[in-house]
Amino acid sequence: MTTLMNDHLVGTVATLPLVDGHCHFLLDGPVDASRFELACSESRLPAPAGISYLDGAVGLAIRRWCPPALDLPPGVPMSEYLERRTTLGADEVARRLLRRAGLSHLLIDTGLADGELTSLSRLGSLSGADVGEVVRLETVAEQLASEEITGAKFASAYVDSLIDATRDAVAVKSIVAYRHGFAIDPGRPTRREVEEAAGEWLGRPGKPRVDHPVLLRFLLWSAIDRGLPIQIHSGFGDRDVHLPQADPAVLQPFLAGTESSGVPMVLLHCYPYHRQAGWLAQVYRHVYLDVGLTIAQVGARADGVLAEFFELAPFGKLLFSTDGYALPELYLVGAAQFRHSLSKLFSGWVADDAIRSSDAERLAAMVGALNAKRLYGI
Ligand SMILES: [Zn+2]
Repeated sequence: MTTLMNDHLVGTVATLPLVDGHCHFLLDGPVDASRFELACSESRLPAPAGISYLDGAVGLAIRRWCPPALDLPPGVPMSEYLERRTTLGADEVARRLLRRAGLSHLLIDTGLADGELTSLSRLGSLSGADVGEVVRLETVAEQLASEEITGAKFASAYVDSLIDATRDAVAVKSIVAYRHGFAIDPGRPTRREVEEAAGEWLGRPGKPRVDHPVLLRFLLWSAIDRGLPIQIHSGFGDRDVHLPQADPAVLQPFLAGTESSGVPMVLLHCYPYHRQAGWLAQVYRHVYLDVGLTIAQVGARADGVLAEFFELAPFGKLLFSTDGYALPELYLVGAAQFRHSLSKLFSGWVADDAIRSSDAERLAAMVGALNAKRLYGI
């Protein structure tokens, strides 16, 4: 079935400057074909012989939305696209793709970083967007672990470090879903519990990842005390995550127990549990949800999935992001697919008399930018 697009609405959504509420750094320098392919997938290993990850929703979306930024027609074969990428060079490609995404702000999770990734300011100058930092709670703890610190001192040192690290940040992020899963005791751990857990964790050999459930809870409660919005990874991602334990419905006791704090909790990604997330956003005052990663990863199917995000969640609690990471293509695909699928969804509603065109434009501006500006104070 074809949707009759509402031209005025399409034009408004196409030029709306978007606030990208959750994204990461880019790979710095040239990217070869196999690295490019792997970066388009959540997988850690190359595809088996005879299979390409680019023959999937993301690959098609890249071929649809990105070639025009490099002066090629939509749909060109990937080999031609990659050749053009090499000719133009990494910086020029990043500059063109990021600018075409039309992002006014990038809120960057700086916790996923190693030597080959670009800096906050460089991403800002390539994209022409204002950049804000989102600090990962677990990264702050792990940096402390590399200093000589005892279990007894951990709690107060963490609180000080978090204040320091978030001086200019717009939000913090938790990856408790990856480190333990959402089945955590919802209450604030006692001083003694934190001391014992920290002592046990810090005593482990090597560079320890923080995965102790008591410490993960302590980080979350420290973040609540800090008061910035807390972004929480939920749903799919790379295979470190135990998927059923990343269903935000499992986090319900914690959400219920923290509602009175008033600190916003933003459920990121959510898929395939975005319907659960929508319900949580409806029944808990401080719960929000973000469509990032999902929209890019499902490609042309974003029409249907975005419609599901709009089922139960109050529209003032829905947030756009790209979850762009590594490749500038993923930022553009996230933005372009969002604009396209949102325009289709709302055009259908207008045609069905479910909404007036002017209201559809107002809602698009809310989800694309205004909700995030209000929530993150930008
Ligand atoms: Zn992310």
